Amino acid sequence: MTPALAHNPNSVKHILIVGGGFAGLNCARKLAANPNVRITLLDKNNYQQFQPLLYQVATAILPPDNIAFNLRGALKGHPNVDVKMAEVVSIDLDKHMLQTAEGQEYQGDFLVLAAGSKANFFGTPGADEHTYPLYSLHDAERLRSRILAMLESAERDPSLIAKGALNFVIVGAGPTGTEMAGAFGDMLQASLRRKISDRAYKDLRADRGQILLVDGGHAVLSAFSPKAQTYAAKMLEERGVQLRLGTRVKEVGNGHVVLSDGTRIPTHTVIWAGGLKAAPLSSNLGIKTGQGSRIDVQADLTVPGLTGVYALGDFANILGKDGNPLPQLGSVAEQSGKCCAKNILLDIAGMPRAPFHYLDKGIMAMIGRNSAVAEVGEHRHELQGAIAFAAWLGVHAALLTSTRAKIEAFVDWAWDYFGGSRGDAVLDRSEELPIDWNDDK
Ligand SMILES: Cc1cc2nc3c(=O)[nH]c(=O)nc-3n(C[C@H](O)[C@H](O)[C@H](O)COP(=O)(O)OP(=O)(O)OC[C@H]3O[C@@H](n4cnc5c(N)ncnc54)[C@H](O)[C@@H]3O)c2cc1C
Repeated sequence: MTPALAHNPNSVKHILIVGGGFAGLNCARKLAANPNVRITLLDKNNYQQFQPLLYQVATAILPPDNIAFNLRGALKGHPNVDVKMAEVVSIDLDKHMLQTAEGQEYQGDFLVLAAGSKANFFGTPGADEHTYPLYSLHDAERLRSRILAMLESAERDPSLIAKGALNFVIVGAGPTGTEMAGAFGDMLQASLRRKISDRAYKDLRADRGQILLVDGGHAVLSAFSPKAQTYAAKMLEERGVQLRLGTRVKEVGNGHVVLSDGTRIPTHTVIWAGGLKAAPLSSNLGIKTGQGSRIDVQADLTVPGLTGVYALGDFANILGKDGNPLPQLGSVAEQSGKCCAKNILLDIAGMPRAPFHYLDKGIMAMIGRNSAVAEVGEHRHELQGAIAFAAWLGVHAALLTSTRAKIEAFVDWAWDYFGGSRGDAVLDRSEELPIDWNDDK
C-alpha cells in the first residue's frame, strides 16, 4: 500500500525523473498525488510517444498526433510537477545532480532513470547509416515519407523498380517487425492493386512490390506459441510478405542488403526492427551496465550501491520471477513506474521498500486487418483472428493517453477497416525524396 504522508511544507522532497515514457510518466502521476514531493520531469521531447502504434504512422493508418501526447497535458492538474524539455547528457549519481545539453543543472533528493531504448544494430556493417529504425515518432514519420517517396519514384519512372525502388526489407520478425510487415503488406496491396481506384498508383503492377521479412531465427514472433507463429506466418504470406527465416542481414549499403546466404537484394528501404539497447545516456553514467547496456536493478528497482537512485522500464534490467530480465514491454514500464513511486514514498516515510512484482497480462500482436494473435494472462490463453484483432484494438485504444486520441484512433481504424481508406499518406519529409539511384557501393 502507498503510504499516506501528512503534508509538511518544510520537508518537501524533490524528485528528478529522466524520461516521460510509460515508466517515467506513470511514476510522475502516482507521485504527484502526494503533497510532500515536487517533481521535475525532463524529456528531450515535449510529448510522450506511444511506441506500440509507430508502425501505424509509418504505414499511414494513423496520423502522428494520434500517438503523441503533450507531457504537460498528460500531467495537468498537478501543480507540484514541472516538465522541462531538455536532453540529459550526464549525471552525477552520488550527488543526484544532472546536466542537460542546453547547459542547465538540476539536483534532487531522488533520481529516477527512465530514458527508454534505442535501436541495437549489433555491429552490422552499414546498418546505422542506411536503415530506418522504428523507435520514435520521428523514425515513423521519416519511414512513411521514404515508403511514399519510393512509390512516387517508381510510378514516375518504372525503370527504377530494377534498382530496388519497390523492394522493402524488414529486419527482425519479433512483434515490431511482424506488425510492420503485416500492415505494410495491406498498404502495398492497396496502393498497387490491379483494380484501378482513386488511391492506387495506376502505373504500378501489384506484383512489382516486394516485402521481405528477414530473421536469424526459424519462426516469426518467437515469444509466442508455435500455433500462433504458424498462423502469423500464413497471414503475412497472404499479404505478400516473403519470409526469409534462418537468415541474417550481413551488410547494408546505400542501395542494397546482403543476406547471410550471400543473396544481394537491391533496396533503398531497410527497416530495422532487429533489437534494442538502452538509450545512449546509460553509457554516460559512470557505472557498469548489464545486458543491452541497461542498468541492472535490485528487486525494489533501486540501483545497487547508490542511495535514492532508481532505474525503470526499458532503461533497466528488471528481473522476473524466473530470475531472467523481463522483456521490454509497455506493461513492464508502466508497472515499474508505479512501483518506483510507491517505493520513493516508502523511503520518505522511513519504511522498507517493496519488491517489484510484474503482473503478466499476456502478449499480443496485430498482423493486419482482421488478423492478430493474443496470449492472454499468465496462463497464455490463446486467441487468433478476428477476436484477437478486436482485443488488440480495444487494449491499444484503452492505453492511449487522451480521450480525444482514443476516439480519433477508433475513427481512423474504422475508415481503414470498412472503407479501405487510410489517413495521412502525405510525403511531408522532402529530405526522403532525393535518392541517388546510381550510388550503390
Ligand atoms: C515499435 C515498437 C512497438 C512496440 N509494441 C509494443 C506492444 O505492442 N506492447 C507492449 O507492451 N510494448 C510494446 N513496445 C515496447 C514499449 O513501447 C516499451 O517497452 C515502452 O515504451 C518502454 O517505456 P519506457 O518509459 O521505459 O521508455 P520510452 O517509452 O521509450 O520513454 C523513454 C523517454 O525518455 C526520453 N529520453 C531518452 N533519453 C533522454 C535523455 N537523454 N534526456 C531526456 N529524455 C530522454 C525519450 O524521449 C522518451 O520519451 C513497442 C516498442 C516499439 C519500439
